Amino acid sequence: MFEKVLIANRGEVALRIHRACHEMGIKTVVVHSTADSESMAVMLADESVCIGPPASKDSYLNIASILSAAHITGAQAIHPGIGFMAENATFAQMVAEHGLTFIGPSPEHIQVMGDKVSAKNAMIRAGVPVVPGSEGVLKNGQEATALAKEIGFPVLMKAAGGGGGKGMKIAERAEDVAELFDLAQIEAQTHFGNPDVYMEKYLLQPRHIEIQLLGDQHGNVIHLGERDCSLQRRHQKVLEEAPSPALTDAERAHIGAIAVKAAKDIGYYSAGTFEFLYAQGQFYFIEMNTRLQVEHCVTEAITGIDLVKEQLCVAAGLPLSITQDQVRFHGHAIEYRINAEHPETFVPSPGLITRYHTPGGPGVRIDAAIYDGYRVPPFYDSLVSKLVIHGNTRADCLARSRRALDEYVIEGIQTTIPLHQRLLNQPDIQAGNYDIHWLERFLKA
Ligand code: ADP
Repeated sequence: MFEKVLIANRGEVALRIHRACHEMGIKTVVVHSTADSESMAVMLADESVCIGPPASKDSYLNIASILSAAHITGAQAIHPGIGFMAENATFAQMVAEHGLTFIGPSPEHIQVMGDKVSAKNAMIRAGVPVVPGSEGVLKNGQEATALAKEIGFPVLMKAAGGGGGKGMKIAERAEDVAELFDLAQIEAQTHFGNPDVYMEKYLLQPRHIEIQLLGDQHGNVIHLGERDCSLQRRHQKVLEEAPSPALTDAERAHIGAIAVKAAKDIGYYSAGTFEFLYAQGQFYFIEMNTRLQVEHCVTEAITGIDLVKEQLCVAAGLPLSITQDQVRFHGHAIEYRINAEHPETFVPSPGLITRYHTPGGPGVRIDAAIYDGYRVPPFYDSLVSKLVIHGNTRADCLARSRRALDEYVIEGIQTTIPLHQRLLNQPDIQAGNYDIHWLERFLKA
């Protein structure tokens, strides 16, 4: 096992990785920008190295600085966390070339799955059902229009290199396709440095269901069930739950087995997630994330398995600590993403936290990197805390969620806690009856 791991990330996920390392007796090094020198991860880590100014491109995305920090401190492995370098195949490759271990899958897996078109093609070959759409990248507006007519409206144009819900265009009518295609290409180039655009049928009332996978370097792959991430705003997840209120045990076993087989087919290892849209009993693959996910905590809650520890063990060449037969699901968990944002306008609200009190009691987990007197910097993602609630049943989980959200005090900045409180009062949420467009409809009303 590694003696020292460098954490190339910030915020709650840097802390999450630090915690797993320390429980395993591994020393931690955290790299940080000048804006994060007061962060919780920096304070708790065994060592920290400032790698640049606030702008991510000069710090958290600066490969040379990160690798230098690893060498100076004698770290043997790098955990990229979520975002930043986590799905950068070049980074994974360079980490290996510098004699260090990348805590994640191989650069090849990141490469293939990072391009959504090649990922979809790999999945089709592995027998996974995908959303109907173009066979590959679309050449021009004319081709897009012809295909859209064939698929049937509405259609969705997506960036092959996309992520974070950006660069998607919905076309309702043939007249609009060519223009939207051009726009999609421009956005794709601007955001992802790759103009490739492909097309999918735009599904009207699906749920977003994803399967958590774990694989090792000895050919073992298991699934840890699903997460339902259908509550989204602008294609970004707002809260996630496990298990999904929509799936039967048989459906879970069915899609879990398909995902395991596909991951084995491509020789996948480390943590990974297959994302599907689910409608009328059918699953349609949309993409794979070759990293830990923000919402991994709900899976940890219902399985008792520490995903970060498994990632560390797998990266060190050890086999998975559990087999599929040993995976048991217990109860129900929901994660509430608490963002430093106005709960109605969603305008970012960085600044000084003047009062901070966390809920406690049974079934309450908080993955947050904030504290009393901490100043939330304006430069990064607005997620400041994840409240993860576990109960024996979904009803227990909802009741516990209400009381925990009521206890949570964060003053000085605006947060999305009131949004979650409002959501819990909605009959559809209470009944688990929502699709990926539910939240947008609710916010409009
Ligand atoms: P990103 O990588 O940008 O997050 P995804 O492909 O994972 O993009 O899609 C993000 C979200 O966009 C999905 O969870 C879903 O809500 C919506 N979406 C994606 N593809 C489709 C589709 N074909 N039909 C309807 N909604 C879709």
